[in-house]
Amino acid sequence: MKQFQILYKDDAGFLERLGEIKRWRASHSSYATIFRIYSEDMDLGHIQHICDCLDEEMPDAQYLGCTTNANIMDGALTDAKIILTCTIFEYGTTQAKVLQFPFLEGNAAQDAAELKKFCDANPWVQAVEMHATIMDISMMEFCNEMSRLREDIQVFGGGAFNPDMDDDTAAVFSKGNGFMEHGIIFLLLGGTNFHTYSAFISGWKPLKRRFRVTKADREILYELDGKPALDVYRRFLNINRNDRFFSNTLEFPLFMEHGDIDILRCPLAANDDGSLVMSSDMQEDAVVRLAYGDPETILASIREDGQKIADFCPEVIQTFSCAARKAFWGEGNISDETVLFNSVAPTTGFYTHGEFLRINGDMLNFNVTLVIVAMREGEPREGRKVNIAKAQIDDGSNEKIPIIRRFVSFIEASTAELEEMNMKLALSSVTDGLTRLYNRAEIERRIRGALDKRKNQGGCGSVSLIMLDIDNFKKVNDVYGHKEGDHVIQALSDVLRNTTAGMRSCSIGRWGGEEFMVLLSDSDVDDAAALAEKIRLKFASVSYETAGCQTVSIGVTQAKDETADALYSRVDKALYMAKAAGKDQVVMLG
Ligand code: GH3
Ligand code: MG
Ligand code: MG
Repeated sequence: MKQFQILYKDDAGFLERLGEIKRWRASHSSYATIFRIYSEDMDLGHIQHICDCLDEEMPDAQYLGCTTNANIMDGALTDAKIILTCTIFEYGTTQAKVLQFPFLEGNAAQDAAELKKFCDANPWVQAVEMHATIMDISMMEFCNEMSRLREDIQVFGGGAFNPDMDDDTAAVFSKGNGFMEHGIIFLLLGGTNFHTYSAFISGWKPLKRRFRVTKADREILYELDGKPALDVYRRFLNINRNDRFFSNTLEFPLFMEHGDIDILRCPLAANDDGSLVMSSDMQEDAVVRLAYGDPETILASIREDGQKIADFCPEVIQTFSCAARKAFWGEGNISDETVLFNSVAPTTGFYTHGEFLRINGDMLNFNVTLVIVAMREGEPREGRKVNIAKAQIDDGSNEKIPIIRRFVSFIEASTAELEEMNMKLALSSVTDGLTRLYNRAEIERRIRGALDKRKNQGGCGSVSLIMLDIDNFKKVNDVYGHKEGDHVIQALSDVLRNTTAGMRSCSIGRWGGEEFMVLLSDSDVDDAAALAEKIRLKFASVSYETAGCQTVSIGVTQAKDETADALYSRVDKALYMAKAAGKDQVVMLG
């Protein structure tokens, strides 16, 4: 595969380059020839003129192209308004075919179905490169249909665009099919000696805080966590609805997980009602996070993921980079993230309105992403392998961690601490400090809940209570001290916990002092009494260092159609009867 890159400046220079290509073709074994034309010049007459030249000079060559936000040549942003690449296949087995369809809401999925029909009838197709105008189209149905293509077909590409990011006008075109302002071009490639490898890189990193999409319709994101989506940008980042909204949010797009794949969506504008116009469809119920862009982090990701592209030993590299990335980096720095690929193979491409890549069979529509496609004919030439990580940095020891990453790590650590403190607080508001059992308020709340549930079920279901009070506890305090008294209280709570371990529908609370209440929301009074007896025996068998063995008296009862107070008073009466009958025993009151 041979690639020529052409900057179109004037006819003379262009015709001269075409002459060189023709001479190369005459002296080499060369087969299918494809020109890609990328133009940020929106004057279609200018592009038509170039197409006419190609029709005249190289009638056997195919060509396709689109309008762009800007162009990439030699791995860098070029100020040339129109660029061309000429790919010449050197193996007769390699095939190429261009298809072009109108692309509008309503027929987008149909285009994908047409493509599928062609691919099914032509098993040689291995890869589909696509250029499409994507404004005013919901990509979901199209992507779903594209995902039905034969499993082994790779798909990649980008959305045609306009140098003015606020202007949606765009066009695609190809030989014999003219220009379409709503169109899609598929370049089908394949053959036994044709190989391609594609990858995508974002480099933007998500922060931990999650938000749920509670209301969305296509690309309009109405609500996050039940509140206007703009609130998230206002509250967490102090980004308001003004002229600079897009450039401000660009550094913080929304990150979402699609299976194992990370996808970004950019807020393009904010509406009066606080909803956001996003760069592509948003799905209700998706979980999103704010992501942050930081040049060092992005470059580190590119070096890491880009090495796989280098290892493929490509002869040609195509890039589809989101126009938002160019806006983020600025024209002076944007090339930093693509120029390293040019040391691997001639790298061209354009700045897009949305990127496409099929991953594990799934056709995905990305934003703020760099899709890189490596192509090769024949086996890899190992000698050509380039270590791009090495080409860029020495050994990493001098790498300075940028301040933004330090701040992010500070924020994440503080958030984790706060979350832990919140959990502790939530727990401490329902538990008792000495015994770690539920406190009085919580066990009462649970008892009332169980009674309400029983009532709602028409009085069905057995709810029982066990009330316990340590015998002669004042004496323990008086003789062995308050601290030893505390140990005895803790020992009884351990016995309660251990005896009921694994039992569902059981809650234990400290009722006060040395009194406890056990709620069994699915046991009758006999089962409750049996459990109470087990507890009594176990507690009596514990011997304390100084206080020796202690005992507990227990009352047990079962709920009827009654108030919680009536239930408490009966279980209290049962406990009183146990005390009156000589303590260290269980009394059951039905
Ligand atoms: P009875 O067998 O009739 O229950 O006699 P008793 O001595 O246990 O009498 P009562 O239940 O009225 O005594 C409760 C005592 O428990 C009174 C109080 O000083 C003590 N107490 C309450 N809370 C705590 C505590 O958290 N720690 C300790 N060490 N003692 C407590
Ligand atoms: Mg008591
Ligand atoms: Mg007592």
